[in-house]
Amino acid sequence: MPADGASTQGAIARRGIMLVVSSPSGAGKTTLTRTLIDEEEHITLSVSVTTRPRRPSEIDGVHYRFITKRQFEIMRDSGDLLEHAEVHGNCYGTPREPVEQALAAGRDVLFDIDWQGTRQLYEAMRDDVVSVFVLPPSAAELKARLERRAEDSEDIIVKRLRNAAEEIAHWPEYDYVLVNRDLDKSFKRLQSILTAERLKRVHRADMESFVDGLLDGLREITA
Ligand code: 5GP
Repeated sequence: MPADGASTQGAIARRGIMLVVSSPSGAGKTTLTRTLIDEEEHITLSVSVTTRPRRPSEIDGVHYRFITKRQFEIMRDSGDLLEHAEVHGNCYGTPREPVEQALAAGRDVLFDIDWQGTRQLYEAMRDDVVSVFVLPPSAAELKARLERRAEDSEDIIVKRLRNAAEEIAHWPEYDYVLVNRDLDKSFKRLQSILTAERLKRVHRADMESFVDGLLDGLREITA
């Protein structure tokens, strides 16, 4: 079995994990989640739909699917969204189908969503959800990061800082909390969480059939 517990060995299969990462904007969550997708196999990023305007660095279909309010309402009312929420005055939601397909195929799915969405996922699929909250090292650093990013206007930055306090208040609802002082260290911790949760699930759900096979094999070669 590979050290990360991923199901590459045929005999061991497991249902995918829903790894949720939340934080106030600017705490480094996007860098952490993108790095995880680049470095880890067997995990797919859930691409949300949003009604917020696209930022210059964003690609439609990669970072988000940018849709109109009307399109959002149709998806929501048809049950096509696994969860949805209003954040900073814009609507965001997770399309249901790609997530269900990935989980059924045994792939893990990574979600960059807020506390409202995390709650809804817990209500719908508690056993599959593992949640991580990323905190900035300080208020001053959070502001500096949003300004360095230079993707939002000054009034939007102020709005995001005001909302940060509300988002941060929900940290106790999460399974893990990371204070992102150093990106490399935080990334290693996030990767360790994924590894441990994968191993936990392999052992709990699927080890029995693997051990049965192992015992059959031992009986055969000792008969
Ligand atoms: P941003 O506009 O900075 O990309 O995202 C604003 C906030 O919305 C972030 O906290 C992000 O995690 C959250 N968000 C993004 N997509 C979704 C989604 O599909 N559902 C929910 N509930 N929140 C989302």
